Amino acid sequence: MRKVTKEQIQTSLKLMGIEKGDVIFMHSALSAPGIVEGGADGVIDAFLDVIGDEGTLAVSTLAFGAPFDADTTPSAVGLISETLRKRKGAIRSLRPVHAIAALGKRAKELTEGHEHCSSNCGEGSPYRKLIDMNGKIILFGVDMNRNTTLHAIEDWMDASFLEDYTIMMPTYMPDYQGKTMVLKKYPPGHRDFLRFTPVLRKEGALIEGRVGLAKVLCIDVKKMYELGIREMKRDPFFFLCENPACKFCAKKRKAVQ
Ligand SMILES: [Zn+2]
Repeated sequence: MRKVTKEQIQTSLKLMGIEKGDVIFMHSALSAPGIVEGGADGVIDAFLDVIGDEGTLAVSTLAFGAPFDADTTPSAVGLISETLRKRKGAIRSLRPVHAIAALGKRAKELTEGHEHCSSNCGEGSPYRKLIDMNGKIILFGVDMNRNTTLHAIEDWMDASFLEDYTIMMPTYMPDYQGKTMVLKKYPPGHRDFLRFTPVLRKEGALIEGRVGLAKVLCIDVKKMYELGIREMKRDPFFFLCENPACKFCAKKRKAVQ
């Protein structure tokens, strides 16, 4: 099979409307397009070239190791994420579980203060800042279920199925050893985010493209929040699945009846 080149990735991104100065938040699977020239670095470089020096490229670096250490705890969500996290100049936000990493002009602005937020995906978090930055979410070879920022909409709406979650204190806090902390409005359990894809498509909040064998989605963050809030106002359990046998979703629906 032919390798997917950096030029091919760039052409696809431009066709999807990605341009100089964009703030991108990406979820990805390196294996999805086929074999990419330059591997994870090749994908990252392709994005950086298209968005230029004025642009910002951020990735989810979900991490479940405890205690969380922003410098050493690896990203659990793939090689592109882990490679960007380790790049020179990348900044990782200080937050257990939902930390992000960013490169580029607004990386500092996007990541700073995450440790002071009252919840992982709530006010002041990078997930919320993406709105004012006119951010775009890229799902690179992964589907809507990987779209972490939808938990920020659940947080915004104060969804009944979010829970307090006790974890080991992260290493950036003083005297963290052996201590725990509580993460408020943590999003546990199961979701059906896939049902949101046609809503975004219908309302013009989604551009679909392709890189090699991979489907790539580009989502307008501001519109995504508006539509997610609209759907949750109509149905507070919109993001949960409807399988009556689902241990999480069925139980959470029942809890408020
Ligand atoms: Zn479910």
